[in-house]
Amino acid sequence: KAKSGHNGHHVYRSADNSHGATRLRTLQELRIALTDDQFVLHYQPKIELKTGTVNGVEALVRWNHPTRGLLFPDQFLAMAEESGLMHTLTQVVMRQALDQAAVWLAAGRSFTVAVNLSASSLVDAELPERVAAMIESRGLPASALTLEITEEFLMADRDRAREILARLRASGIRISVDDFGTGYSSLAYLRDLPIDELKLDQSFVFPMADDARAAALVASTIDLAHGLGLRMVAEGVENGVAYDELVRYGCDYAQGYFICRPIPAADLDQWLARREI
Ligand code: C2E
Ligand code: CA
Ligand code: CA
Ligand code: CA
Repeated sequence: KAKSGHNGHHVYRSADNSHGATRLRTLQELRIALTDDQFVLHYQPKIELKTGTVNGVEALVRWNHPTRGLLFPDQFLAMAEESGLMHTLTQVVMRQALDQAAVWLAAGRSFTVAVNLSASSLVDAELPERVAAMIESRGLPASALTLEITEEFLMADRDRAREILARLRASGIRISVDDFGTGYSSLAYLRDLPIDELKLDQSFVFPMADDARAAALVASTIDLAHGLGLRMVAEGVENGVAYDELVRYGCDYAQGYFICRPIPAADLDQWLARREI
């Protein structure tokens, strides 16, 4: 049976079958990649708008594929999720990010490294203890780690989410709500969840520069966050116009290509060194 693919083109069975074969190969490759250390992290700085200083970095996973080159999350995350490999991938990412955080701490950098946590991590009841142990074994302060969760994570099982977040936060780990504004959650959950910051989704930030209503929406969301005692991060800051507006609206932090793209740790060190001159 034909079904509608994207761009409205029809995708037929035969196409589906070859797609299935590709999937199977990718799945096998994904398993190998996890044991073979083919995943690397790129880091994107998060700037404190008031001072211009680097407050933290976000770790973004890439797959250094042996033949296909550097693959981005949209090319493999869904498959990792569907095949139950997300848990292992999260472990790999967390280990690398915390190892790098220890290197930065030793170099006298005290910023926080943010790791993205998929909604399926909620199933893992031991997560807070395992993460705390990973932080401790590297001699890091808990503030060295920020976990970015989505509204999906919060809404899947609210009681469980609340409990796991409370345990993470009790140990000093910061919690950030990613892609804020794109989920279907009610605003009420903001009132009583143990979180530190909201990350306004880039789809709100992109149109800011040439749409007054989009800008007004961003400005009032920043006020909303502050009213609730939360910090606001804007992501997807691609130009100076958006950057300046965010400063004017009192946004706390910003991330985006205008400031710096996600890059390997060694490149980020050079970027930091250039800024400090
Ligand atoms: P996200 O967490 O919302 O990350 C922001 C995405 O926007 C990243 O894409 C980043 O490279 C990109 N970006 C940053 N600044 C700009 C900008 O100014 N303009 C534009 N157009 N894009 C910008 P990336 O690295 O491809 O990651 C995509 C998504 O994959 C992430 O969205 C996150 O949901 C997921 N992801 C990435 N790494 C991990 C990971 O280690 N674990 C999990 N569970 N998810 C991850
Ligand atoms: Ca994120
Ligand atoms: Ca985001
Ligand atoms: Ca996103």
